[in-house]
This record gives sequence, C-alpha cells and structure tokens, in this order.
Amino acid sequence: MPAPAGVLGFTPGDDYKLADFSQIKDYFEKLDAASDRVMVSSAGKSTEGRDMLVAVISSDANLRELARYKDIARRLARVHGLSDADAHALAAEGKAIVWIDNGLHASEVASAQQAMTLAWRVATDESPEMRAVRDNVILVLLPTINPDGLDKVVDWYRRTLNTPHQDSAMPWLYQKYIGHDNNRDFYMQTQAETRVLSHLLYEEWLPEILYNQHQGTWPPRIFVPPFPDPFNPNIDPLIMRSIDLVGGAMLRRFESEGKDGVISRHEFSTWYDGSIRTTAYFHNIVGILTETGHASATPYTYARADFPRELDDGISTSEPSTNYPNPWKGGTLHLKDAVDYMLTGSLGVLDVAAKYRESFLYGIYQVGARQIEKGKSDAPRAYVIPPQQHDLPAAALFVETLMRGGGEVHRADTPFTADGKVYDAGSWVVRLDQPFRPFAKDLLEPQRYPDVRSSAGGTPVPPYDVAGWTLAYQMGVRAVAIQTPFDAMLTRLENFPSVTGRIRTGPDSVQDERNARAHAIAAPGLYLLDPSANQAFAAVNALLAAGLSVSRAATRPSDGGPGWTHGAFAVVARTPAEAELLTTAVRQHGVVADLIGRPKVIALPRIRPARIALYRSWIANIDEGWTRWVLEQFGFQYTTVTNADIQAGHLTDRFDVLIMPSQSPRAVLDGHRPDETRSRQGPWNPVPVEYQGGIGESGLAALKTFVDAGGTLVAFDQASDLAIEHFGGVFTRVHDAVQRLDEKTFFCPGSVLRIAVDTNAPAAFGMAPDAAAFFAGSRGFETDDPSVVSVARYAPAGELLMSGWLLGADKLAGRHALLDVPYGKGRVLLFGFRPQFRGQPHGTFKLLFNALYVKSVGR
Ligand SMILES: [Zn+2]
Repeated sequence: MPAPAGVLGFTPGDDYKLADFSQIKDYFEKLDAASDRVMVSSAGKSTEGRDMLVAVISSDANLRELARYKDIARRLARVHGLSDADAHALAAEGKAIVWIDNGLHASEVASAQQAMTLAWRVATDESPEMRAVRDNVILVLLPTINPDGLDKVVDWYRRTLNTPHQDSAMPWLYQKYIGHDNNRDFYMQTQAETRVLSHLLYEEWLPEILYNQHQGTWPPRIFVPPFPDPFNPNIDPLIMRSIDLVGGAMLRRFESEGKDGVISRHEFSTWYDGSIRTTAYFHNIVGILTETGHASATPYTYARADFPRELDDGISTSEPSTNYPNPWKGGTLHLKDAVDYMLTGSLGVLDVAAKYRESFLYGIYQVGARQIEKGKSDAPRAYVIPPQQHDLPAAALFVETLMRGGGEVHRADTPFTADGKVYDAGSWVVRLDQPFRPFAKDLLEPQRYPDVRSSAGGTPVPPYDVAGWTLAYQMGVRAVAIQTPFDAMLTRLENFPSVTGRIRTGPDSVQDERNARAHAIAAPGLYLLDPSANQAFAAVNALLAAGLSVSRAATRPSDGGPGWTHGAFAVVARTPAEAELLTTAVRQHGVVADLIGRPKVIALPRIRPARIALYRSWIANIDEGWTRWVLEQFGFQYTTVTNADIQAGHLTDRFDVLIMPSQSPRAVLDGHRPDETRSRQGPWNPVPVEYQGGIGESGLAALKTFVDAGGTLVAFDQASDLAIEHFGGVFTRVHDAVQRLDEKTFFCPGSVLRIAVDTNAPAAFGMAPDAAAFFAGSRGFETDDPSVVSVARYAPAGELLMSGWLLGADKLAGRHALLDVPYGKGRVLLFGFRPQFRGQPHGTFKLLFNALYVKSVGR
C-alpha cells in the first residue's frame, strides 16, 4: 500500500512542504485503489467546486457490511421505534463510528497534512492495537473539509516562500465568503461545505464521536479536553462525561509517549452552539477539539523568554499543575511536530472508541431516549410556529434550518388548542420529545450566559465565542413555547417547507391559496408587493433586472387598499408577459402581492437598483465576506472595491451606495502597516508591499466627497467610528455612548438585544416595530442634532436583553441603534450593531436592503 511519501515525493510534515488539494486527493485515491480497508468518495462539492472527500477506513470485513453498520448507527442515534433491549442488541452488534475531520481552518495547516499519514497508519499498521481499532471502529476520515481554503493557503505559502513575505497573513479569506467563520456556521448551515457536512453527520453517519482538529495554542503545545466552564445546560450530562473519558484517554496517551506541553480545561468551552464540534453535542455526539501549536511548514524557535508567566486563566506556564502537569519549556518546532501531536490525538480517540465500542453505541441511544423522555415530562413541551408571521418565508427558512440540522418538525393538520390558545392548521410544531431536543431547544429559547468574573466583583470574562444566539429571535420568527401537554393532529415534515406566494385581487379579500391560484392570472396592472418579507426584495430585484417598472410607496394614499403599507413595492406589469414574470416571482419567493388596478393610479418615482460598492480590505475581513454572501442570496449586484479604487476618487460616477463592513477605522485607514510588528507567535513576516496600507488620507477624502456629493455610505458597527471620528460636520454631534465605558460598567459580548424600529422611516420600511439586533461589543449612539433621523433605538433596560449576556443595560437603553445621518447632499447610515452578522439575523436584513435602491430620476 502506498505510503504518503511514495506518492507525494515528501513526507507530510517535512519542512517547507505542504500538499495541496489535488495531491491529497491523489493520495487518497491511490490508497483506496490499493486497499480493501479504505473506501474514498466525494460527498459533494465545496463552494468553489472541489470535492468534499470522505475516506472510510476499517477492516475489510467491516467495510463489506458497511450498510448494516451505518443503519445500526442511525437507528441508535435516532432512537424512535427501538426498545431498550433492541438498543442493547444493536450496540453489541454495531461498530463505533468515529469521525475525524481536518483542514476546516485552512491556515492551521498541519491537520490536512496529517490526514494522509493517519489514513496510511490505520489502514496498514498490524499492531494489536490497530487491529483492534480496525475490528471495532469505522473511521470516517475527512482529509480536508475546506478544500478551497487548503489550495488558497498552500498557494500563498508557495508564492511567498523564500521571500521576505514568507508566512505573512494571506490578504483574503480562506473560505470564499466566511473564512474562519466556517466554524461558526453549523447550526445556520449557510455554506455549501456546512450543508454537505451536516448531511453527512446528521443524516448519513451519526457518529458517536467527532474529532475536529485545530491549531491555536501557545505556549502549550496542544489543548486536549476536558473543557473548562461554562457548560451549556442543554448538553446531556452523559455527553459531557463521555468527553471527559475520551479526553482523559488522549491526555494519558500523550504523557505515556512523553509528549509535553499538553493543557486541558483551558479557554475552549462548550457553551457556544455553532462550531462543528459543539453543534455535535446538541446531537448527542461526543465532540472532541484539539488545538495544536505551530501552524506552519516553516520551523521556528519559540523562546522561553517570550512566554507569559501565566495564561489568561491563571495557569502557570512553568510550574506543573493539574491541568498542565508537564509544561513545555520552549524550543524549535517543525510542522512534523504538530503532525505528530495530531496523530497521537487521533490514535488516542480511535483506541478509546475501540475499547468502549459498545458503550458508546448504546450511549448515543441512551442519551437520545432520555432527551425524548425530557421532552415528554419537562416544560416546554413544544414550540409552535404559527402561520401568522411578519416574514413567513423567513419562518419557513428557520424550519428548514432545523431540519437540515436533523431536527424533527411537524405540521398541524387541523386547528388545535395548547396552553389555552388556538393555533391554526398549518402551524409548524417543534415537539421537544425528539432525540436531538438539545439542538431544537437551543435555537428557540433564550440563552442566559452565567455572570463569569475574573475574581469576585472583578471584570467580566468574555465567552469563547458569543454569549447568545437564539436563532428564532434573530430571524424574526414568532415561536410560542407550549408549557403543558396538548393534543394535536400532527404530521412529521419529510421535506423542507415552502411558502407559496399569493396574489390578492380584491381590496378586502384575503384569499386562501387555492383561490389565489385561480385568480393569479397574468393580468397587467399595478401590483403592490408587501415589503415585510425579505424575499420581497429578492423578487423585486428579479423584476427590476427583467425591466419592470417598480416604485416604492412612501406613504399610504387615502384611496389605497390594504396593500398600501409603508414602503410597499409598486410594480407595474404593462403586458401579459410582464404580469407572468411578476406572478412567477411572487410564487417563487413566497411573498404577497395585491393587484390594485390600472397603472394610471400610480404617480410615484421609479426606483432602480443602487450601484453598490462593497469595500474589501487586505486585512481579510469576515464581515465583508458575510455581507457579500447576504447580498448575493437576495439578488443584489455589487462591485468589490479595494483601497486603490477608493483612492482613485470620482466614486459618485460609479456608485450610489458604498458599504463599509465592520472594521476598525485604523484597519480601514492604515491596513497592514509597513512598520507592522508580529501579531502572533511563530514564523511571521509582513505582507507583500502591494497589500500594505489602507485607504489612507486620500481614500478618506474620497469617501467624504462621495457622501457630500449625494452618495450613501452604509457603515456597520466598528466602521461607523470612521464617520464619527473623521467626517466632521454633523458627526461632531454624534457619539457612541458605550464604547469608552469600563467593562464592569457596561459589557455585552455577542448577544441578541431588542430594538424599537421607526417603521415610518424609509430605512426601516417593511420592518416589524420590534426587532432583535445582534450586538457584539457594538455601539449605542447619542446625538443632539435635529437633522439626524433615528431609525431604531435600543429598548428600555428591562426589556433590552433577549438572549446572551448584558451588564449595564441602562447605559445602552434608549440609545440609537441605527441613525440616518444627512451629510452634504448624501447620507450615512450608521449601524450600531451587525445587521447581517454571520448571515443569521434575517430580522434586520431589511435595514440594509432598503438603502440599496435609488430613484431612477433622469435615467
Ligand atoms: Zn481553528
């Protein structure tokens, strides 16, 4: 069987060598061809079209019975229809399914390289230990789950190798849209890779153990579980104890091999739901994370003198302690050292899975069965998502998201009563007596982050990621928790729900769907599209692209019918063909339109799509990528602009709107500075000169000129400081009320906060008056300038926190969350929060979308 070196021409981990995707794929295909212990396939495509490779490795006998073992794993994890005796019998028969993935964070280069060595070892090693692994375990090995990123990172390394820029920061994201946030997408599942992985994890394989490899620790050589607090209470305690078992076995293996610098219960908690490892917990899977040091093929000497005395959590870097009993003393590390640590971690997981095979198989059933029982005995029993929604397609997308993640959702066949209230037929019901109850519950209920302090009365300790995320809130979905038992005729959804658009034809008639279809003849006339659904904007973008005439109704005329809401899109279908286009768009996007009558009724200015510029910094900015992704999902065309484009000026000739994603003014103005010093431990050099610098003074002047001459600048969160600090004029009277408060006075790490929206403001057309804003160390504005329009304010202190953690609510309460600031002939839309954070807050997307049309006067 081919060893990696024989195929690659070098050994994975060799200095200055990184295999790219085609080399890794080639190796796995050769291994597959040579071995009946290895089966390699593609589970789908990445965002940029590369294969998502899956290598299944076990004994040839197990692989011959693979369908049977997969079926056992699925049935145990899904619980339904199994008795306890059935589960014991299946656990006795089955094989432990262990998932090991690599390369998610492509800049953490060692894991994708070690995958080849690991595969070869598991397939060929004839030691008693490895035979036991092959007999008892089916390894589902994913050589790289971010193949696009692997090629970007390897290409950048090769391009800068032996130059003064070797190991410099890559100036773009290592996943097309979301870079490092590709490990924050596992409940939302927006990206192609995430969707493939969710399907593999929660539909196809249902592994008992998942091991996700990263590289981000120093001075310790590796972090291995157990994890530190805080603990997410939705995770079953048996899962937490199983993590400790696997982590303990790994830790012991490291010490028995004499590998020093291994730390546990440090930094990486289990609170956050959304990384591949943590979302697994909410599916009763034992999720393991390691963070290995030294993420480069360039050797580097880590000097003891650079080590801090203590880590942030007080663990000494030199004195042995329970969680760090064998501190690393520094020295030179090679890529091979990281590869070796990862191999030890992987083999430790496989060994403990082989030894506890039956126990892990029964365990996933046991936890699932217990969760079903909790759903029957504990409140809430269910969540009802009624059809009366402000944005019904967004509610359907929420249900789809739950289902993609393996959640069970039902539909009510008839009206029913729960907690004394009547719900319509067609309501979606998320029963909590389901095996993945933790997953469903966690996306519907508010998170209450514990008040973690550095010491009694000390400063708050931020969460590892965000503190609260309640997806139903973020998406503006009305979901009602049902506290008591109820009876309803329910049918389990097999397919993702879709919302059929409706065209209403009479001023007072609200048709049912069948009626609407009968009336939805392609009749020319004036149609009003309800802007409360985000999909209305996608429909309008399609219609504008097809050349239809669209206006926006700023106010409701006295003779208007029910479709005349603030900001309704008035679409004129002049011909049967245009009416057909409109009908199709309405149906496809699941939105509501009213046929008002003949076009002569209308006297509103036409709109056209704004010419949108989206700023991209050479300090790769994930918020920029997410903005791109959201714009594309709803059919907004945009042009990416870099420093040079902005500095060239004349922006009004090319653009109507310029979007500045959240990024500090310093990063925007200066970018990578020529005198930049290292920002991380390990090999590092400054970026090539063409990627140094920001928009600078000339770019800032061009931005001011753009707005002054009539352009619209949209600034998210940190980027709003750019206008406040550097634009002068009206901005001298706009301040951020919370930025400079100390953390004991005001503190709000990633949380969901309530805002009150002025739905009469054009920037807020289509919004509900009450919305959830994603706040992450964000901004609350104050101004005494009467020309500034307040579009949204933070709610009163007692109602402000919806999910997460907030200290000093009174400091933010009533402050402006979104300001529309006139500046010269143009304006700046100043967002205090993140309206598009990680593609999740569908409830605030419209605050961005409304800014992306302009009057088509004279064009
Ligand atoms: Zn990572």
